[in-house]
Formats: sequence, C-alpha cells, structure tokens
Amino acid sequence: MRFLPYTFLLFKIIFAQTIEHPQNSPLSVLSNIIKMEEKFDTEIIEFDTKWVDSLSLSLPCEGIPVPKRTMRLPNAPREYRNGIHRGVDFFANWGTPVKAVADGIIIRSDLNYEEVPASFRENLLRSSAKLGDTPSDIFNNILLGKAIFIDHGFELVRGFRTITIYAHLSHIEKNLKPGEKVYEGEIIGKSGNTGMRESTLGSKAGSHLHWEMIFQKGNQEIYLGKGIPNPELYEMLSLIFKK
Ligand SMILES: [Zn+2]
Repeated sequence: MRFLPYTFLLFKIIFAQTIEHPQNSPLSVLSNIIKMEEKFDTEIIEFDTKWVDSLSLSLPCEGIPVPKRTMRLPNAPREYRNGIHRGVDFFANWGTPVKAVADGIIIRSDLNYEEVPASFRENLLRSSAKLGDTPSDIFNNILLGKAIFIDHGFELVRGFRTITIYAHLSHIEKNLKPGEKVYEGEIIGKSGNTGMRESTLGSKAGSHLHWEMIFQKGNQEIYLGKGIPNPELYEMLSLIFKK
C-alpha cells in the first residue's frame, strides 16, 4: 500500500492547482479541449456577406463584368451533375486572357491536362446520377477541366483561408507551377471549355470562365455567396470587384 501517499499527493496537487489556478488546472484544460472539439464539429459555418465587405479584387477577365443571370451565379442548380453551382460563369470567349484576382501562391496548375474521352465523361456522370450526387474527385479532376487554384492564405478575408479557382481553361502560362507566387492582375492562362461535353467532342462551343472563391475554416469550407438569393447576390458580387 505504498502508493497510497503518492495518490493522495497527486490529488492534492490537482486540487490545489484548481483552487489557485482554476484556468490552468489539468482538469480545466482538459475540459476546455473537449468543449472546443464539440464546438468545432457542431458549429456549421454559414456564409455572411460581411466577410467580403472590404474585398477589392481585379476582374479575372478584363472588361467582362459579373453576369446578372441567376443561372451563371453561385447556388444555381446544375442538373447534369446533380449539383449546385459554386462559382461565377463569366462570359469569356475561347482564348480570353485570365488574370489572378489577388496576390497568392499557385496550388494547382494543370499544365499537362489532356481532355478525357467523351464516353468516359458521360459514363462518370451516369454513374454519379445513380448516387444522386457527383463525388468531389470527379468534380475536381474531370468536370473542372484544365484548372488553376490559387491560395490567398489568410490575407484576403479575416479568419478564413481563401482560395480561388479558374476552370475550363484552354491554356495555362508556361511557368506557372505549384509554389509560384502570382500577383493581382497577372495573366495566368486563357479561357476555354475543357471538362465540358463540347470539349470532349473537339468543339470550342460553350467556352466561358468558371471562377470560384472558397473560404475554409477548421475542417469546413464554404463557397462565396452560398445561400444568398439574387439580386442581393449579384449586387454583392459586383461590389467585390474593382471598377
Ligand atoms: Zn460554372
């Protein structure tokens, strides 16, 4: 029974710490960790237009403004993939120069993208329809086509890591590799229709720039404008770009 005095001593230390330093006691610290974990898992973030109140981005295609039509904006249904549109479809003809909307670091740059066969794309969409949803790997690797992702760190919007996505590109500037720094207004590629049905058939029809901004916090991510109805959505989007 020699351990008894040590057990007693340990309890005495914990008890004394709780009294003297209630915030720093082992029990208090442990309970805070548990509380934080619970908060993390249950608190679902919802997009708030206040996050982007002071944003001032360059348009990704010079002279091409944010479109007004709901179908070209975030939250529009995308029935061909049983999904919801997360971005903005700018009216950019095939080959229009595409620019970084803000300073950042390249995360993804599909320099060696090759279009997939039309039947493969169709089969993937058919299988996805049976699931009732398009899996994220198919969306990211097939449907976005030749794409660029830029990491803007925590600089753009306080409290969030922000990334921007430029999809369906026909061309990417040759030195643009992951890890490269890019600057606001720098040309990063050209618009196109890669990842779309028309591209798999060898046509340039349907070209546009699909652009997204994603906010990440903890293990969650949310797209710009999620849940915001039009015309409030259009007004918010047109205000975040410089005139
Ligand atoms: Zn789109």
